[in-house]
Amino acid sequence: MKRPLQIAVDGPAGSGKGTAASMLGKVLKLPVLDTGLLYRFVAWRAMESRVDLNNTDAFLSFVSLALKTMSWRTEGVFFDGKDCTSLLRGEDVGAVASKVASMPAVREALLQMQQTLAIQGCVMDGRDIGTVVLPEAQVKFFLTASLRERGRRRWLQLTPLAQRKQSLEQMIKEVALRDQRDSERTLAPLKQAEDAIVIDSTTLRQDEVVDRMLRVLKRRDLIELDEYR
Ligand code: C5P
Repeated sequence: MKRPLQIAVDGPAGSGKGTAASMLGKVLKLPVLDTGLLYRFVAWRAMESRVDLNNTDAFLSFVSLALKTMSWRTEGVFFDGKDCTSLLRGEDVGAVASKVASMPAVREALLQMQQTLAIQGCVMDGRDIGTVVLPEAQVKFFLTASLRERGRRRWLQLTPLAQRKQSLEQMIKEVALRDQRDSERTLAPLKQAEDAIVIDSTTLRQDEVVDRMLRVLKRRDLIELDEYR
């Protein structure tokens, strides 16, 4: 029997991986799972509850309780049954998410959840999907873009949320800091899987990125391209 198709999409903040994963999932009719939302959820609950991240034991019991209030689906993340996804998108939550994501016990708690949901087949985006979460994924993409372009995209993305508190230059600095933290941590750092296909999206439109992805899937005989034209 054919294994359900698993597609890993990794990359740094603002590389366009979320949009590409979501568009690709729609085209292929596969569930799309944004793993960044899990780390963001933990960060957001910790911020709301003013938990001390440095008190490791207390923080970990907090995380296990927080996860019981959460459900995670293609549509986003639900807290006590309510969609809280839009509250998680700010760069302030992203920065704390990057801190909690460096804690081994947090990653451990989230790993199984990600692997269980992926069994049915999915497009999953994050930082360590191709390397740690789904090392057996049939296709792995690693999206990149220049730092300036990624900072610009994050800055524009946050506009509708009225969260553009800082200047573009500040946003670029924050994105650079998050990149550094995500790439330098010892456990499951942001890293390109050896068998990943790199797409630099700096000068590409989103539909061009997805088009490249579909061509790769076609080359590997995983889809009939004509079906998606
Ligand atoms: O992708 P997004 O910006 O939503 O991720 C927020 C943070 O969550 C990242 O900066 C990273 O530290 C963490 N993360 C992770 N592993 C993943 C997804 C996100 O460490 N698979």
